[in-house]
Amino acid sequence: MDFSYPPDTERFRAGLRSWLAANLTAEVVDSSSRRGTDDTAFETLRRWNATMADAGWGAVAWPERYGGRGATVLEQLVYAEETTRARVPMPLNVIGINNIAPALMRYGTGDQKDRFLRRMLCADDIWCQGMSEPEAGSDLAALRTRAVPDGDDFVIDGQKIWTSLGHRADWCQLYTRTDPRAPKHRGITCFLVDMSLPGIEARPLITLTGAADFAEIFFDAVRVPATAMLGPRDGGWQVATTTLSHERAGAARLYAEQQVLLDDLVAALAPVRKNGRPILEDPVTRCRLGGLSVRITYLEMLCRRAISAELHGGDAMASASLAKTVWGEVGQELADTAYDLLGDDADPRWGRHRLATRSLTIAGGTTQINKNVTAGRVLGLPRS
Ligand SMILES: Cc1cc2nc3c(=O)[nH]c(=O)nc-3n(C[C@H](O)[C@H](O)[C@H](O)COP(=O)(O)OP(=O)(O)OC[C@H]3O[C@@H](n4cnc5c(N)ncnc54)[C@H](O)[C@@H]3O)c2cc1C
Repeated sequence: MDFSYPPDTERFRAGLRSWLAANLTAEVVDSSSRRGTDDTAFETLRRWNATMADAGWGAVAWPERYGGRGATVLEQLVYAEETTRARVPMPLNVIGINNIAPALMRYGTGDQKDRFLRRMLCADDIWCQGMSEPEAGSDLAALRTRAVPDGDDFVIDGQKIWTSLGHRADWCQLYTRTDPRAPKHRGITCFLVDMSLPGIEARPLITLTGAADFAEIFFDAVRVPATAMLGPRDGGWQVATTTLSHERAGAARLYAEQQVLLDDLVAALAPVRKNGRPILEDPVTRCRLGGLSVRITYLEMLCRRAISAELHGGDAMASASLAKTVWGEVGQELADTAYDLLGDDADPRWGRHRLATRSLTIAGGTTQINKNVTAGRVLGLPRS
């Protein structure tokens, strides 16, 4: 079987590899795990994001007019695999680039696109996404933060929680309730809110790892102009569900990332001995590592199926939901295995990683919700 890609795609790969070889430094790679605890690491990543954007490698799936490369699906797949293998840190504005920008490209005014997209790509502005509230997480449409019209402005009151980078953000894509009488999916409006406005308070939330990666944000009579609205009034649900039509192969990062971690774990275990023998010769250890390798290959198949469904008109949502569930579970299993095999004395990286992976089954849609999606869309079961 020949799985080689067309010559153009291989040229794209070679160009990316040689650019990364010349530009990616150990300091940048190392900053990734410290960005929540170390301001210097955060600023290193900000400069790196600008370097990538200037070279056209910041968001290859974006159209060229916004600073991307309009990359083909195969190029996007190669990009995800190569950047993951090279350990390129995720962009600071990963939620901005993957989730907010698509809505901006689709619903934004010319002024909003000109003002925000390039600066988001370069991390000149840090963006956060204010969706979840204390009583509205999985059931996002239950959100209660209110925006009440007042002359040419809206006045916002309420609270968001679990907002990634909320305490560092310059701008927030904020979802509010503008019509409390409408059915809950209808009366929602999206705003692009300047985080320096009076009445906004962002309190960092410290995670299990000691990092301040997200925040709770309080809005007390915050006045925003109507021009800050993104998309139609009361049409925020469509804005929230806009996906990046140009981005087709981001799922590749999920399996590539787990493969890199498994390779790292095997390397870390090479000098370890158990019962007087190398641990990598121990049958139980080999069985666990082999099992992980099988599960990662299974994850790769699910990700490729999601990409294929996106391209050829299948149920991409069902496949992506399955892939997300398996990714979260494999990620936690790999981290638990590393901790079991390496023990407390291991490189602290693995202990931190194990704690950090607790969030994999929550962020971006919980495993339980994804299993509900699988039950309905894959098995065709009725709603409860
Ligand atoms: C690392 C990380 C980053 C995040 N970043 C952001 C961000 O930038 N912006 C943002 O707005 N939010 C963010 N979130 C919040 C995230 O989107 C929510 O945590 C998630 O949607 C779940 O909501 P919740 O925490 O309110 O849990 P709940 O919805 O209250 O759920 C609690 C439990 O009940 C289960 N459950 C709920 N409903 C059902 C159901 N119908 N059937 C079966 N089980 C159910 C859930 O699976 C979960 O186990 C982030 C979360 C994490 C962990």
